[in-house]
Amino acid sequence: MSNLIRKSVQAMEGYVPGEQPKDEDIVKLNTNENPYLPSPDVQDILSMIDISVLSRYPDPVCVELRKAIAELHGCEVENVFVGNGSDEVLALSIRAFVEREGSVGYFDPSYSLYPILSDIEDVEKKPVALDAGFGWQMPDDYSASLFFLTNPNAPTSFVYDKPTVEHFVQNFDGVTLIDEAYADFADDNCMEFALKYDSVIVARTLSKSYSLAGIRLGYCVGSAELIGAMFKIKDSYNVNYLTQEIARVAILDQDTMKANVSAIVETRKLVADKLSELGFQIGTSQTNFLWVKPLGIGAKPLFEALRKKNIIVRYFGGDERTKDYLRVTIGTAPEMLKFLDVTEAILNGEA
Ligand SMILES: *Cc1c(COP(=O)(O)O)cnc(C)c1O
Repeated sequence: MSNLIRKSVQAMEGYVPGEQPKDEDIVKLNTNENPYLPSPDVQDILSMIDISVLSRYPDPVCVELRKAIAELHGCEVENVFVGNGSDEVLALSIRAFVEREGSVGYFDPSYSLYPILSDIEDVEKKPVALDAGFGWQMPDDYSASLFFLTNPNAPTSFVYDKPTVEHFVQNFDGVTLIDEAYADFADDNCMEFALKYDSVIVARTLSKSYSLAGIRLGYCVGSAELIGAMFKIKDSYNVNYLTQEIARVAILDQDTMKANVSAIVETRKLVADKLSELGFQIGTSQTNFLWVKPLGIGAKPLFEALRKKNIIVRYFGGDERTKDYLRVTIGTAPEMLKFLDVTEAILNGEA
């Protein structure tokens, strides 16, 4: 063991992002990206950008972008923080709200980055096991400095109902960060709690519903006090100029985002119905992916057989709770028809 590296960093495992193959023939259903184009205004703004501005530093506090976000959610600019992806928002929230002797909570299973971010800061992890059907389950005496509440949850695609979430945030003694990466695909969301309760932050991303994973833009809404703390500790220029401009016009064009979301929600229903017909166990998704327990074939053999046919889904095999399931991102309708055809052929022993 090297003594040049912090012990906690030596001991931790790094996050392994989903595979990003370059091969065009691959149907990529493994990282919950959006298969549709972002707003056409993004193309326009890119053509209009004067490259001389790139020699200057960008606005460190991203005022024009935050104005657009504040307008969208009916709050003030001081209630909005923007980051280099919502992953940065999550990392900064630990650094802003958790003391060295403090702790970070999250449901198990949920987003696998939370324990890793906690390990980087070397703070205690306090995971809470969901019930057998991946539903809400919280001990009465639970406490932590910060709780990451993924709603709708990933990788399960399920939503916790709003009264349950509200009851939790009213009684929890730390900061609750509601990670709403998939809220645009859901029937409802908890954004109002960010403005109603001083201890609540709601995080969103442009990576999924806005088809902009490549620009890295996430944001959060909360009380001016919590948002101000995050501004204090961020890198000076954490969101680059191009990303600020692209994100701003994409947020102003809600129609394109909503049309893309509608198409995905429609395809989601078609795929869910077909997989149910095949006997797969599948709950009600409120996201752009399905959480599927195959029938007649194990999750791992199906994952591997799909991979051989150039279809990549996500398999979380390292964990007892998740090893019997696959997470399948909803792609375009033709991609999903191919996925269904190949799946059926595999089940029939024809592929
Ligand atoms: C995708 C995702 C994020 C990360 O979003 P980025 O803005 O791309 O960093 C955060 N939380 C959850 C639950 C996600 O699924």
